[in-house]
Amino acid sequence: MNMQECKICNNNAQHHAYSTEKDSQVVDCSYCGKYYLMHLFETDIYNDKSNFYKVSSWIREQNDEFHINPEISQEVFEDKLNMRDKRIKEKFDLMMQYFSNATNRFQLDKKILVKCWMKNENEFAKLYQKAVDTILLDGPLIKMLSGFSYPIFLGLTFDGLEYIENLANPNQSSKNIFVAFNFEDNLKEVFNVHVKSAIEENGFNYVVVNQDNVEHNKSINDEIIVKLKSSRIVIADFTNHRPSVYFEAGFAMGMNIPIIWTCQEGHDQDMSFDTRQFPHIIWKDKDDLVKQVMDRIKVIL
Ligand SMILES: [Zn+2]
Repeated sequence: MNMQECKICNNNAQHHAYSTEKDSQVVDCSYCGKYYLMHLFETDIYNDKSNFYKVSSWIREQNDEFHINPEISQEVFEDKLNMRDKRIKEKFDLMMQYFSNATNRFQLDKKILVKCWMKNENEFAKLYQKAVDTILLDGPLIKMLSGFSYPIFLGLTFDGLEYIENLANPNQSSKNIFVAFNFEDNLKEVFNVHVKSAIEENGFNYVVVNQDNVEHNKSINDEIIVKLKSSRIVIADFTNHRPSVYFEAGFAMGMNIPIIWTCQEGHDQDMSFDTRQFPHIIWKDKDDLVKQVMDRIKVIL
């Protein structure tokens, strides 16, 4: 074992020989986390290091979220370097989650940057200040001589706690239930008549987007995204699977909107592997579907 700088973030990192067969080293970086470094990997060839933070954040995410120690070859590095930056709102949400889990409020360390995919300390200072200005966080930002703005974090405010609650369960006050299915005649009747009336009888809005109800000057995809973003729950039915149902469910998952996965009996073997891992309501007929869906909605709410 020897202590060297991590080639990606320049912080201290333990380097262990791993195996000659794999031609790699195990790097245990105090900032990025643990990863396998392939011997042929070089960072000196890059003049611009401003995007290295993306690779550090990606390794940190692999470690913390998925318990994976990734192999970093030149190819992987290049790939992560060119991945899209997270949106400012995504970084802000990660920062809010970080603070909501902070156990020792006075021991915030630089790791907040890597965990929240932040480019540098200036970006952190901007986001922290925004959270203070919008009264989600309590505690001033102190500018240190080193240039790093150190947050004296005192806790989340009432609005901050509510913000975290909404992240876990967005659109809580919305009455919209977005329904995605294959628009063929028999399924149209099941959903647009029977499921619709059960949803409406319970005081919710039944929301379906297809070519028939989108104004001519609007794109159907834009309309789907607008409606998904404001939904409390998404029902995704995979009977005779229509590809865009996968897209709609994936989008809702990314937004943390609860999804009710459904599929008619006999069609469940045709589903893509990606969605089969989620528990589906397998329904026999319209009455069975309506009952199971309404029971599930009550559980979610
Ligand atoms: Zn590192």
